[in-house]
Amino acid sequence: MLNKGTKLYSVLHSKCPHCHEGDFFVDPNPYNFMKAGDLLERCPVCERRYTPEPGFYYGGMYVSYAMGVALFVSIYVAILVLYPEASMWTYIVAVVGGLMVLAPILYKYSKIIWANLFFSYKGVALTAKEIAEQAARAAR
Ligand SMILES: [Zn+2]
Repeated sequence: MLNKGTKLYSVLHSKCPHCHEGDFFVDPNPYNFMKAGDLLERCPVCERRYTPEPGFYYGGMYVSYAMGVALFVSIYVAILVLYPEASMWTYIVAVVGGLMVLAPILYKYSKIIWANLFFSYKGVALTAKEIAEQAARAAR
């Protein structure tokens, strides 16, 4: 399940969703706030573009929202189970604190998950379809 060629591999290793070889982010550390979530323009290995159209990664907000809700529910249930007598403030501080601390990670993974929803693994070499597309473009 975690082998190269699976989308999970690309997400967990922050690798190019096309070839699973090149890096996806400028800096894979989500807590480097100067470069957090910045993508390379192209894969350094297979040279395929990461952004098919401007604004493509705005859709990552849906992924980020879904992960935020999942995190909220996880923290809430964890407190409910582990500290049944916790006050309402404990819930608020834990949920808000957890979301703030983990926000850079959610932001980073929202982008690579979004990319993996649209791009599939093709390997490093161009596929027959891509070669045909390039030839068609060159002929125009
Ligand atoms: Zn690549």
